[in-house]
Amino acid sequence: QFPFGRRLPCDIYWHGVSFHDNDIFSGQVNKFPGMTEMVRKITLSRAVRTMQDLFPLEYNFYPRSWILPEEFPLFVDEVRMMKDSDPSWKPTFIVKPDGGCQGDGIYLIKDPSDIRLTGSVQSRPAVVQEYICKPLLVDKLKFDIRLYVLLKSLEPLEIYIAKDGLSRFCTEPYQEPTLKNLHQVFMHLTNYSLNIHSGNFIHSDNVNTGSKRTFSSILCRLSSRGADVKKLWSDIISLVIKTIIALTPELKVYYQSDIPAGKPGPTCFQILGFDILLMKNLKPMLLEVNANPSMRIEHEQELSPGVFENVPSPVDEEVKVAVIRDTLRLVDPQKKKRKDVQQHVESCKDTVNVRYNYVLWYRCQALEEASEAKEEAREAGAGDGGERGGSRSPEAGLPSLCLKQVFPKYARQFSYLRLVDRVAALFIRFLGVKGTTKLGPTGFRTFIRNCKLSNSNFSMASVDILYIDITRRWNSMGIDHKESGMCLQAFVEAFFCLAQKKYKSLPLHKQVASLIDFCEYHLAALDEKRLVCGRG
Ligand code: ADP
Repeated sequence: QFPFGRRLPCDIYWHGVSFHDNDIFSGQVNKFPGMTEMVRKITLSRAVRTMQDLFPLEYNFYPRSWILPEEFPLFVDEVRMMKDSDPSWKPTFIVKPDGGCQGDGIYLIKDPSDIRLTGSVQSRPAVVQEYICKPLLVDKLKFDIRLYVLLKSLEPLEIYIAKDGLSRFCTEPYQEPTLKNLHQVFMHLTNYSLNIHSGNFIHSDNVNTGSKRTFSSILCRLSSRGADVKKLWSDIISLVIKTIIALTPELKVYYQSDIPAGKPGPTCFQILGFDILLMKNLKPMLLEVNANPSMRIEHEQELSPGVFENVPSPVDEEVKVAVIRDTLRLVDPQKKKRKDVQQHVESCKDTVNVRYNYVLWYRCQALEEASEAKEEAREAGAGDGGERGGSRSPEAGLPSLCLKQVFPKYARQFSYLRLVDRVAALFIRFLGVKGTTKLGPTGFRTFIRNCKLSNSNFSMASVDILYIDITRRWNSMGIDHKESGMCLQAFVEAFFCLAQKKYKSLPLHKQVASLIDFCEYHLAALDEKRLVCGRG
């Protein structure tokens, strides 16, 4: 541990909380810039909402949400309209403070007027969300699932999911919410940090029982009841990939700002904690994403009132050790070193050291090939972690990978959803000054001009008005006052506006796709022209 930083470069930097070090010029960092901000309740809800606008059916795994305080009037209106159109609808809502965790400040309400408006909403922004009233129960208890996901790379997108996770149980038998039981946190909230204080909490000494179990043990139970566990897994994978697709556009803006292209910098990877609730019909619903999931493998046991002791937790150990071990295997700096040696050899072929370097390189190649062959054999189900065949790869003896690659593996199925990524690429192109995350008025004008979006119906004066209107509204929401200008979400809103204007009769996602094609076409033509001029 280097609490005060360190001067010598490392292969891997394992930061505790977030990406925060601008003095790293090589190696790999276990956090992405901006991830903590991206997965806050409000930002995540906004990112998913943009995707819900484009692809409502594909993104119906996230409960309907409103952002407080600014969407309070909208919340009231929409709930009233829905109640008018369906008088039998008796909803419950859950209010969650932004940036809160471990169930902190969360409460349930039956009606928008029950929101605690006095001061707290103003001082503490929150998300209010439709409460999922019919969760799947096991042993009459509500539970949620914590799954670990490795975002190994943003460009190209690489996602892995751990094959096992944790199931965290409530400690009071579940009843659908009524005015009487709304306040019973041990019945409605699955947070470990809350339920541990319940007299009914059972520390698990194996993976199948108690208040925290492995997800695989739940799957076994479900499978024995005849549930389609394969379909459940495929729905979970789809939820994870779609959520990450919703997060990537803004992450790319943060990334280019902290680690500008063309300058020496590290690459990033990150383990994320996905909290998922299964509905009674086995549909997985996303609750939230954690940028800094707890990797503790001990739990606190209360010996006597107020006196706690840390004791090993077999369930946490089983799941979390495998996640960290396999993350390190996947980002293996030795693998990278072997590649670097190869590059080095190629760059100094004409030096006297060439013989020595080749010997080194051949050794590394042999190691790498053996390790890759073994991995492939394991993937095909042939490996057992033993040492058959005499290959002594650095990974020999390790159990098979618990992290399963899902992207780009299923890229073909999901790539059509990556529209906002392409909008973000346009945004980044026009940001101009390196290190910024907001677009100035000149950048926006250049975007309009270069993409040939202005015409007799849409003058440059209207362009300026559009820029000012949208930018002012987004900046008044008090998201980030550090920089002035148009943030990505504001640009996305302006882009959707332009798309709706230009391609009136199409559904929104087709309007947006058509406008992206149009812009990319004109920018490619411009690049070509510049290249020819440059050559000339
Ligand atoms: P925190 O970050 O404070 O843990 P969560 O969003 O994870 O906030 O919510 C805490 C708990 O509340 C969840 O673990 C879950 O049990 C419950 N919960 C959250 N949102 C919903 C919802 N929309 N429907 C039903 N239960 C929910």
